[in-house]
Amino acid sequence: MAHEDHGAFYDRLELRGVSRRDFLKFCGATAALLGMQQTMAPQIAAAVEKAAASKLAPAVWMNGGACTGCTESAAQSTNPDIAQIVLDILSLNYIETIMYAQGESAEQALRQTVEENEKKFVLIYEGTVMEGWEGNALRIAGKPSIEELLEFAPKAAAIVAVGSCAVDGGWVRANPNPAEGTGVSEFLARNNIATPVINLPTCPVNPEWIVSIVIDALILGGIDETGQVTPALASKLDRYGRPTFIFGQTIHDNCPRRGHFENGEFVYAFGSVEESKGYCLYPVGCKGPQTYTNCPIVRWNDQVSWCVESGSPSIGCGGFNWVDQNAPFQ
Ligand code: SF4
Repeated sequence: MAHEDHGAFYDRLELRGVSRRDFLKFCGATAALLGMQQTMAPQIAAAVEKAAASKLAPAVWMNGGACTGCTESAAQSTNPDIAQIVLDILSLNYIETIMYAQGESAEQALRQTVEENEKKFVLIYEGTVMEGWEGNALRIAGKPSIEELLEFAPKAAAIVAVGSCAVDGGWVRANPNPAEGTGVSEFLARNNIATPVINLPTCPVNPEWIVSIVIDALILGGIDETGQVTPALASKLDRYGRPTFIFGQTIHDNCPRRGHFENGEFVYAFGSVEESKGYCLYPVGCKGPQTYTNCPIVRWNDQVSWCVESGSPSIGCGGFNWVDQNAPFQ
């Protein structure tokens, strides 16, 4: 597609059900999410178009121990369709849950991408790193899954850990954690692998966050030609590797029920009159005050709604060790 013209790019989007208007709207939303002026939207659109033409940034999506909910979350996105983003822009050569190839041909695609793109590709990792039983708690392609992570992680330009399982082990590592699950950052640090990790917790991850990070890191220059995270991108990450433009405020800070909280108007029982009035869910367990994500702003399912708006207290899945803290198995 190196010589593909401007019109052909939009034709390809149309084929996937994404109009030019939708795409430009998406670029505007991405600019807002990244804390940029709306006037940056055309520049983002041009950069994405250029990246799509040159296939500059291949990616692989690997899975650890997970329910694949993050893949599901991403694959259901239509803003624009995540498959459009990952296939056309990232040249996603390996995503084992939904790719057509299987078995040896899938493994070959993964290995080929890694070997041909050392320090250029992005490794998107979903799921918990399973260290139990000497790594045999999770075997992929006939060997412990951690072997491939140890081999490929040092060769990646950057790793995007998607979902709380990849960030800190998520529900898979909840007490008693029989499979000795852990997060990508902790696992790599113990093995002296210094590849930068961008952490996107929650269960599942919001696909719009993945897309915004990918655009910022790979298309807007957050990772340079030598595979280094630039100071500009590093300054947007907190000490846990989370983008502050996503995880800089609590859910409570931006919650539409916040006025009821301030007025002392609370839901004490589901099915009550107070619930029907949309009062604050704090007494029924809402963890919004201690959970740092911008869910009320970005929302979910193509911005249709999100947990608290649809009537559920926040379970705090954007926090660390959230299952043991908020909903323990034992
Ligand atoms: Fe805060 Fe939760 Fe009440 Fe919203 S519903 S105002 S996040 S405590």
